[in-house]
Amino acid sequence: MRVKLAGFNVDADILRRLEGDRCRHLTPETLSAAYARISRSPLSVDRLRQQACRDVEKARRSNQRIIFAMGHHSVAEHAVFNFDIMGVSRLALEEIERFRLASYTEKSQRYVTLAGDLVLPVEIRSAALKKMFREAAQRQNRFYFKAFSLLNRQLQHQHAKTAQSAAGQRLVEGWAKEDARYILSLATSGQVGMTVNARTLEHMLRRWRLSPRQEVRRLGEKLLALVLPIAPSIILFPEPTAFDREAFSPLDEFIAALPAAAARRPGPGPRIVSFTENGDDMILAAHVGSRRGLDFPRALAMVKRIAPARKKSLFREFFKKVEFFSAMPREFEMADITFQATVSASNFAQLKRHRMATLLAGEYAPELGNTLPESIRQVGLAGEFTEIIAATNDAYSRLREASGAAADYILTNSHRRRVLMKMNLREIYHFIRLRDDEHAQWDIRELAHGLAEKIRRIMPLSAMMLCGKSRFNDRFREVYSFPPPGAEAE
Ligand SMILES: Cc1cc2nc3c(=O)[nH]c(=O)nc-3n(C[C@H](O)[C@H](O)[C@H](O)COP(=O)(O)OP(=O)(O)OC[C@H]3O[C@@H](n4cnc5c(N)ncnc54)[C@H](O)[C@@H]3O)c2cc1C
Repeated sequence: MRVKLAGFNVDADILRRLEGDRCRHLTPETLSAAYARISRSPLSVDRLRQQACRDVEKARRSNQRIIFAMGHHSVAEHAVFNFDIMGVSRLALEEIERFRLASYTEKSQRYVTLAGDLVLPVEIRSAALKKMFREAAQRQNRFYFKAFSLLNRQLQHQHAKTAQSAAGQRLVEGWAKEDARYILSLATSGQVGMTVNARTLEHMLRRWRLSPRQEVRRLGEKLLALVLPIAPSIILFPEPTAFDREAFSPLDEFIAALPAAAARRPGPGPRIVSFTENGDDMILAAHVGSRRGLDFPRALAMVKRIAPARKKSLFREFFKKVEFFSAMPREFEMADITFQATVSASNFAQLKRHRMATLLAGEYAPELGNTLPESIRQVGLAGEFTEIIAATNDAYSRLREASGAAADYILTNSHRRRVLMKMNLREIYHFIRLRDDEHAQWDIRELAHGLAEKIRRIMPLSAMMLCGKSRFNDRFREVYSFPPPGAEAE
């Protein structure tokens, strides 16, 4: 066996210092080109890489031929980029972070006091509307600081024990910021570090060109301009196709002609709209089938014949060694759960970070109401909060008429949208462990908690250990009457 380190991503500022005669070809394209040739060349991978580095122009031509002519697109995944994206709105961040095969880290609103920086959308052109936008956002901002100050005082008092240390004080301050931010607009600026391979980047660029928001389209142009001089041969299709643009147009026209449906207020909590009916059996059968080399229908028939009590004991045995951080095996992907929920923008900002899922989000709609943090009510600010929301909704209606989708920028973190989300049980375990947990923010925690309760009912065996990590030891004791592995016996 021979293994070589073929590459790793390095800070671009360091690379720039190295550039010059010694190191002229600082591009990840040579890796794509070398790996693309593995399947047909008799040479070893490291020789192919050396060849690509010696003649970068040839490597580029080879990339273009292989990606463009042969459609061997996955070779572009070997080229990886990191971007610092700064001064973008929360609304744009939603579009930036909707791609599953990329990595993101954002500044948490728990750890910063927002300085009131705003992205004023260029779609809002008239001076009067700009003024209205700024005034509405400034009013929200003033409330943010007032609410933060009151909440912080109250929470530091309520959690005096936690707040004894400087770290504890900062933690409590974070809770105050988290709740105060429900009034802040989606125009509030943020930043994100993003790592993405060239294939996903190309997909992002195509999607962003179709964004209704110029901020996002502009971001796509900037990223393309940064990447093209370094790696011109692997971003070949940044333009949306006619299919990308128009596939849904006939359906959308058809729907637009239908009479408007009566608006329905959202019910409490998530609603499961579809799930794998025999999820427990599917998981067992997937394992039995692959272990015994059986075709799947036979494995399923075999599992169906097992007595319910025996099945339960099989799952109990399976979970006996589970720990709060254990990843469920792939068999758990055989059971799907689709749910619908109405979530605040604040909740959505966290939900969208779960990439191993299908997440479809409707538009933000003032008719869906707003999420008012209980703590805001407790410090006597509910009335003022509601007044600001009413003023925000007025501004939104006027902006919507004049500037279309740009009106969304003035909506707040408390405004809501409907989401339809599908996850398999493996991902659900991960999601619930993280989000139905005492460290999770309360809004997404409530969603996760409601969901976990419902899933335990529909997949009683495979979901028997489904709970947040802070509840894990208790849940384990409920199921087994003894502590989990690694936990101290009482
Ligand atoms: C308490 C808390 C605080 C947080 N604070 C912040 C914060 O300050 N800033 C911030 O940006 N985010 C923050 N997050 C979000 C967090 O970083 C994750 O983005 C989010 O929880 C989604 O979880 P995930 O990445 O594990 O998995 P998912 O996206 O749900 O994916 C499931 C699993 O698939 C695997 N996976 C998915 N994609 C990849 C990949 N590209 N490479 C390797 N493995 C992959 C991993 O095993 C992952 O656990 C916070 C989350 C929590 C719970």
